[in-house]
Amino acid sequence: MKLFFKKIAFLMMVSIISYNVFASALQCDKKDFSLQLLGSGGPISDDKRASSGELIWWQGSPFMLIDAGGGTYLRFGQSGAKLEDVKIIGVTHLHTDHVSDLPAILKGGYFFDHKKDMVLFGPERGGVFPSMTEFFEDLFNSKGAFAYLVGLHNAQDGIKIAMKVKNVNYKSESAVVIYKKDGITVSALGIPHGDVPCLAYKIQTAKGTIVVSADQNGSHKNFIDFAKGADILLMPAAIDENADAQSKFMHASPSVIGEIAAKTKPKILVINHFMGKSLQTKDQTVAIIKKYYNGPIYSSRDLSCFPVTDNKE
Ligand SMILES: [Zn+2]
Repeated sequence: MKLFFKKIAFLMMVSIISYNVFASALQCDKKDFSLQLLGSGGPISDDKRASSGELIWWQGSPFMLIDAGGGTYLRFGQSGAKLEDVKIIGVTHLHTDHVSDLPAILKGGYFFDHKKDMVLFGPERGGVFPSMTEFFEDLFNSKGAFAYLVGLHNAQDGIKIAMKVKNVNYKSESAVVIYKKDGITVSALGIPHGDVPCLAYKIQTAKGTIVVSADQNGSHKNFIDFAKGADILLMPAAIDENADAQSKFMHASPSVIGEIAAKTKPKILVINHFMGKSLQTKDQTVAIIKKYYNGPIYSSRDLSCFPVTDNKE
């Protein structure tokens, strides 16, 4: 019996130690200026990953949250980020795998110590998709699905976030500057994701540039100028080279990603948005991209962290 309890105690100790090792591995070591993937998966749970979401760390804080697909609520907590420290949120588009955890994350504003302003950007309306402001109202106005969080508009009813929501013209031929303050410039450019209003975001600082592309088919030539010379370019690798025409209308194939990387010449290329099927062809995807682009390619996982500073050392 004694031996049994000793074994249990030993197993508990091992699990505590391995939990701590695992937990620390989830954190970004360098937060000067880094891209951290909250989710690296796609819209189907067969990839066993969180859907799309990224954090931009700047000077030790999570400056910007981009997207909040399913599972990113948990990953956000695991990243060690605090919602209080986030300055702006950028939504790329209103597919569920990019936005479904947003209400859960914003609810955290109920538990802040102090009131704070936060700005949420997203695309204007188009097709069956509402604009960012309409989406926000559908969720959080007094008749919305989460009417109990109506206080998100102006930090009322116990909620400490006063949310300013802004629509970005995704049809603009040139990038739109959405934030310029304290040495950071953030701009957005509409990208062709089938007929879904969709934005890419570029974050520029004195340390370098990070470009986050959400889903796109790669046919917009202005994206090349937008992303050119980035230290880090994030591109979704959702489909394989032999995907059907409809999939290629929505997403860039590996060869298109390769062409974009060859033209924009990022210091590193990070790929995400894997699905169960595309995980099986990940090696072929990387091999095809390498035919066009000879820089380093990283296949991201949930909570992978890519510091700009490392690339300059
Ligand atoms: Zn999408």
